[in-house]
Amino acid sequence: MGRLLALVAALIGAALIAWTVQQPPKPRPLSTPADQFSAERAMADVRAMAPVPHPVGSEANHAVRDRLVARMAALGLSPQVRAGVGAAKNDRVAGLVLGGQVENIVGVLPGRDRAAPAVALMAHYDSVPGSPGAADDAAGVASALEIVRALKAQGTPARDVLVLLTDGEEAGLLGANAFFRADPLAHHVGFVINMEARGSAGRVQMFQTGADNGPTIALLRKAAVRPQSASLAVFIYEHMPNDTDFTEAKKAGLAGLNFAFAGRQFDYHSPSSTPATLDPGTLQDMGQQGLAAARAAAFAPDLPGRAPNVVYSQVFGNLIIAYAPAIGWVVLALSAVLIILATVRARRREGFARTDILRGMGAALFAVLGAVTLLHFARRATGAGFGFMEQRFLLAQVTRWESALILLGLGFLLAAIAEIARGRRLMALVPLLAGLAASAFGGFDPVGLGLGVAAALVAVAAYGRPVSRAGAWSGALLFGLLLAVAAQALAAPVAFIVAWPLALAALAAALTDMSSRRGVASLVLIGLAAAVGLGWLAGYAHAAFISLDLVELMAISLLGAALLVWPLAQPTEGAPPERLVGPALVILGLALTVAVRVNQPYDARFPQASYVAYQLDQDARRGWLVSDTPERSAWADAVLKSAGGKLTKLSHWVWRRPVDAAPAPYLAAPAPEMTLSRRPDGALSLRVLPPAGSRQIALALTPDTPATLVSIQGAPIGMPLAPGAVSRVRWDAAKDGLELILKPAGPGTLTVKYAARLPRWPDGAPPLPSRPAQVMPFNDSDSTLVTGARRLAW
Ligand SMILES: [Zn+2]
Repeated sequence: MGRLLALVAALIGAALIAWTVQQPPKPRPLSTPADQFSAERAMADVRAMAPVPHPVGSEANHAVRDRLVARMAALGLSPQVRAGVGAAKNDRVAGLVLGGQVENIVGVLPGRDRAAPAVALMAHYDSVPGSPGAADDAAGVASALEIVRALKAQGTPARDVLVLLTDGEEAGLLGANAFFRADPLAHHVGFVINMEARGSAGRVQMFQTGADNGPTIALLRKAAVRPQSASLAVFIYEHMPNDTDFTEAKKAGLAGLNFAFAGRQFDYHSPSSTPATLDPGTLQDMGQQGLAAARAAAFAPDLPGRAPNVVYSQVFGNLIIAYAPAIGWVVLALSAVLIILATVRARRREGFARTDILRGMGAALFAVLGAVTLLHFARRATGAGFGFMEQRFLLAQVTRWESALILLGLGFLLAAIAEIARGRRLMALVPLLAGLAASAFGGFDPVGLGLGVAAALVAVAAYGRPVSRAGAWSGALLFGLLLAVAAQALAAPVAFIVAWPLALAALAAALTDMSSRRGVASLVLIGLAAAVGLGWLAGYAHAAFISLDLVELMAISLLGAALLVWPLAQPTEGAPPERLVGPALVILGLALTVAVRVNQPYDARFPQASYVAYQLDQDARRGWLVSDTPERSAWADAVLKSAGGKLTKLSHWVWRRPVDAAPAPYLAAPAPEMTLSRRPDGALSLRVLPPAGSRQIALALTPDTPATLVSIQGAPIGMPLAPGAVSRVRWDAAKDGLELILKPAGPGTLTVKYAARLPRWPDGAPPLPSRPAQVMPFNDSDSTLVTGARRLAW
């Protein structure tokens, strides 16, 4: 019974720690001292910037620009609007160029040494079409303004502080590309603090740095206020394509820190991202972490230089533990010594069989594999597809969904650990059935099946007879040690996530002779270690959950949890109540998963996304009503059917996949103008003037002769155009048109398909019906798409 109490106390303690750490700070009022950050002061700028969506090039964005220039002038920053062209080949999609006309805003707080490399506070002031962008990224812009105001109140910094408010981030990092590629001011920057958002609440994470971040992390450690950061995120971001303005700064070789929040991700790029739904505590978190880092960099005699990356993670409060990657081996060696010591002493006390250790290793593997199988099954069982739009069904009920996953993962872990005391092989059935059942949702699922079968095989080998607690825990710790060694060898920056819980568990094991010491002291010690370790690990499980729709990643936290909670979760013998905790949690988790599936989550606060467009094919003179959201609202359904046409699938190069469509009357609309001319140097100049009022134009280029796309609007591209292949250009804020310079290998023709987007419903079409409160227009919805093709010869 004491063990059960200790287990429950440890779980409650861990939940309390995790909850406390995940709370953003209290927003500070207008009366906050001038040299500190006040979310309430910053919120005034958020409100002023984000009444309506303001994508690059729009009138609304020009209004935001003017307002920001006035604000920065009032702050004494001598703001300049720096017009430019952002354009680059897309990193992820071959043969695609994103570009457009941008207007960055730059202001300067002069430092004592004007020639010293400056600190840049960066955020983007444009929003996506369809979202007011209060979080993304008015919160970042407002933070930058409030930070520079607070810096100024403190005195003259050692170096210049640049406020760099970029334009066109949402259209492909256009403003940052224009600035770091072509603006002479970019050479003045030595350190970048970028502020971004992917949700509207939660803690702010520092998730990305420049290359060779040793000195940058040293600055973060010294300065940060309740930091949320670890080398795990930095490592992940170094190895996957990503898209914030910081990418462009990093490409330019700059050091810096990238901050963002991702809680309540439903509001990301959504009409619901209004000033009212932005959590002011999150704004405070962004501002006070950003200010601390900016102050440290701006007032220091030198900016952080470059030295090898370090392994680091926040622990609790202001503590960040950091060390060189090689020190990870020392941590592992110490853990190994503690585990061996504890095992030897426990065997002297209890005399368990050596095979118990092997069975414990198997049970630990089974516990994690089985938990992953259950999580994987639950994700499929929700019925939601995978993808940005598909996930919205889950984001609209995110707390319920996360709770279901925690209950399932932790529940199975506890059940698997408890069962090793009896050793019944029947345990193998649970993941096997879950793995099989995964195929009942969304078609045959080889991953689920593979996980389930693998877990079951491990169970058959490891279970089969009762295993002593000390022996099993010893095996579990050795299993953790093996994995930590592998992680240290393959990717040292991530090894800490296993190595630190392992070290803590090994210490608890050594002090209690692998839990073979009876008595309260031993239980209290193990309970404390479990509470602290699980509380820390829960933060990572939460971060993995909110940043990626990959529930299986929670396994990493579950592994650490298994190492710590093992001796509390495994009863002595027979069928004491401890063994029922796990199954009870699993049943609760399954019930919640069913609730997630059958619940209709959309309401006025979390409305269902709808997207309709009127597409006009100017060559075939045909009209279409189109919807491209994976789940179509009843409202969008009615719009598509409103012209009386039959619903069908439409394939067109401008859509990534076939979209729902219904024929609609053809309507006259202006077409783009295109002219091809030969320049004196032999290159071709293709001028495209989109129809008046276009927000964006997309082009698909197919030559019949090899050619190179040299540049667009003066921005170098250097993309080969192969005969017969399609290369695409998407250009935002295209009011004044664009000029493409091409170098062909010989005479030939170029087919140019176009799709111009007008941000309004076409003239002459019946107006759209009004949406009910639980349905919202998403992205470019309610716009007109004008398409056609030209064949140009030279
Ligand atoms: Zn953004």
